[in-house]
Amino acid sequence: MPIRVLDPQVVSRIAAGEVIERPASVVKELVENSLDAGARQISVEVRGGGISLIRVTDNGSGIPDGEVELAFDRYATSKIGSLEDLESISSLGFRGEALPSIAAVAQVDIITCVAGKSVGTSLSLKDGAIDKRGNQGHPQGTTVTVRNLFRRVPARLKFLKSPTTENSHIANVVSQYALAFPEVKFTLFIDGRVALRTPGSGQLMDSVIEVYGAEIAQNMLEIKNDGKWEKKTVYPGITGTIGSPAVSRSNRGYLSFFINRRWVNSRLLAWAVEEAYHGLLPQGKHPVAVINISLPHQEVDVNVHPTKTEVKFQNEHLVFGSVQKAVRRALIEQMPVPQIGATATAYVSTPQSRQAVLTSPSDSLSGLPLVAPQTPMVSLPALRLVGQLLSSYIIAEGRDGLYLIDQHAAHERILFEKIKHQWSQQEIEVQGLLEPVTFEVNPREEEVLKANYQKLAEFGFSIEPFGDRTYLVRAVPLLLYKKDWSGMMRQLLDSLSGGDWAETVAKSIACHSAVRAGQALTDDEMGELISQLERVAVPHTCPHGRPTMIRLSLGQLERGFGRS
Ligand code: ADP
Ligand code: MG
Repeated sequence: MPIRVLDPQVVSRIAAGEVIERPASVVKELVENSLDAGARQISVEVRGGGISLIRVTDNGSGIPDGEVELAFDRYATSKIGSLEDLESISSLGFRGEALPSIAAVAQVDIITCVAGKSVGTSLSLKDGAIDKRGNQGHPQGTTVTVRNLFRRVPARLKFLKSPTTENSHIANVVSQYALAFPEVKFTLFIDGRVALRTPGSGQLMDSVIEVYGAEIAQNMLEIKNDGKWEKKTVYPGITGTIGSPAVSRSNRGYLSFFINRRWVNSRLLAWAVEEAYHGLLPQGKHPVAVINISLPHQEVDVNVHPTKTEVKFQNEHLVFGSVQKAVRRALIEQMPVPQIGATATAYVSTPQSRQAVLTSPSDSLSGLPLVAPQTPMVSLPALRLVGQLLSSYIIAEGRDGLYLIDQHAAHERILFEKIKHQWSQQEIEVQGLLEPVTFEVNPREEEVLKANYQKLAEFGFSIEPFGDRTYLVRAVPLLLYKKDWSGMMRQLLDSLSGGDWAETVAKSIACHSAVRAGQALTDDEMGELISQLERVAVPHTCPHGRPTMIRLSLGQLERGFGRS
């Protein structure tokens, strides 16, 4: 076939395919238009998974009668006017592509009315061309109705999933915008039934309750970090809410990010949040979070992809660090102790959760500063020792209830923080062995050992080769002296192949040197453990993310056990 320029209809179909991938994309574009128009009420109605009908009604500014046709022209927009505007986009839309794209793949009717007018303009489009124009009564605002989506694009239709799946994508889009705009009243009707309704109170928590339910909402912690300028650097403002570890989820679907109120997908940001939960969630669990990032518009490029869900930051590392710090700080300052009956079950550990919690990805980001929680800021109240239970748990009393502390997990946390601190200061305490001890390894272990000599030395092991697959150990970390350090080495050599080795070694030393379950402790020992626990940065979980304690609240104690 000779080269030729494509027919405009083909061009518009191709372009539409980039913006409108599935019914939820239509909903997203229409809701964004309503928000850009300043609407305070947005109602979304869908039928048949969005294929038969999508209708979005808003009470925004409306479109002036003389501009309605223009709104359906490609690259026609009221939101930007020049190249400079493109450098700092403050509206959700700006490409002027959504309405024409939708009209290229569906039948569209619009009725719109501006302030001060009693009749609005109505327009119907078929196959991207205007079919009918008229006037119709409509309160101020706009209603766009989209029917028979993709009827003329069978290839696309074929790839759609079941109506249920498409509905869930639609519900997700509306939910995300409800979280981003708590001041807007959203209603979503799916096949005639109310699937979501938010009050538009302006309170993020009200949206969280409607979107995620009261139980999650009760366990959310607020984040608030104002942005600032400092020495020519713009620190982003970070606000929103994050789940306490008690409400973790098994996928990342509960992480929402909004940049200047635009909903975006970002693996970088997801990672920043997950890093902040490091050691607080069991393996395979993911946090719940709604994170709003505000930045000067010039600092973000939103013109990366037609769907506008990807962004590029001028200073990616700064945004990453700011998000991570804000989340970590909220966790450390506000994380509650799990309560018996209420949330303790969420922490029940599985065999996997006893493994290391996170291995940090080895890409370019690993050079970023990890938030080291240096200042002990936690809200553990002063505790008074009551006694020991089953030689495994310490019972203590605080002003807000009774604490049951897992002595091994708590001690592990104390030692873990101590080791990390000593290591970072290069002050690990070492104990020479009276006689060097030989240590034999298999070929696989030997590879790991060879690769990690230096690292083990940093933690206080002195090891040197001594013939065939045999090594001499001359010194060990003081904490492990007279403990099962060789068992620990074996375990470590099995696990040291990847991940953050410093973290792994510190955890392993902590685990092997901490008091065990089943070990009777004196009152002095328990008192000392409690007072050390009060001083660590993250007292509520052990380094593997398991809880160190549970609390029976005063209220629960006062109510008694089923007493009436
Ligand atoms: P963009 O949002 O990128 O400008 P669209 O194709 O989505 O492009 O919309 C084109 C124009 O139509 C917008 O710039 C806006 O002026 C107008 N418009 C679309 N939807 C609405 C609405 N719900 N209320 C008011 N104006 C609207
Ligand atoms: Mg738009």
